[in-house]
Amino acid sequence: MEIMDNRAPFINIHTHHCFGKDELFILNLSPERYVDGIYCSVGIHPWYINFDSLEQDLDKLKSLASKPGVLAIGECGLDRLINVSLDKQETIFKEQLNIAEKVQKPVITHCVKAFNDLIRIKKECKISVPLIVHGYNNNQQIMLELLKNGFYISFGKALLESRSNASKLISTLTTEKLFLETDDADVSIKTIFEKAAELKNMHVGRLREKVFLNFKQLFKI
Ligand SMILES: [Zn+2]
Repeated sequence: MEIMDNRAPFINIHTHHCFGKDELFILNLSPERYVDGIYCSVGIHPWYINFDSLEQDLDKLKSLASKPGVLAIGECGLDRLINVSLDKQETIFKEQLNIAEKVQKPVITHCVKAFNDLIRIKKECKISVPLIVHGYNNNQQIMLELLKNGFYISFGKALLESRSNASKLISTLTTEKLFLETDDADVSIKTIFEKAAELKNMHVGRLREKVFLNFKQLFKI
């Protein structure tokens, strides 16, 4: 068992920084920031939609999507708190879902106050690739709806706050649907795993194995 523990790296499903050491991470990049030779996700984040260059950005994304280092499309999604209409966000999100579907790669999803729309879009567009909701920190009802509709859930720094939804919910989430991330937080993925393992009352090595297994299944590595 101990040997297995040592073999499984910490999987950081979504980060904006390179960390390294015992860690296998998916670095999030916009299409224009793409670099070869690193595992990454590439997508157009709703916060950074640039309508002047949208066509080119989507074209660039299409051409990058099939590269082997691009493990996922994203982060992309819907955000009700920004100044871009949800309609427009939806159109751009769907474009990216279709790209993911075409190359058969998972999607790292950003969703703020638009979970019903997210679920509706997944159904409407008949999306078959795995969708991972990153930075989850909402209530249990929404989480159950997401699970019912085949989504994966990724928790991040909110786990470190004892009264957060994330820290209360993680013990109820099956490890088969679980990922962990640092996102843009200045914290190591090891710290997130240790907290997650404590909250789930399991050995951190076992959790590493479980999440690594999910990673291998979804990303075919
Ligand atoms: Zn992020």
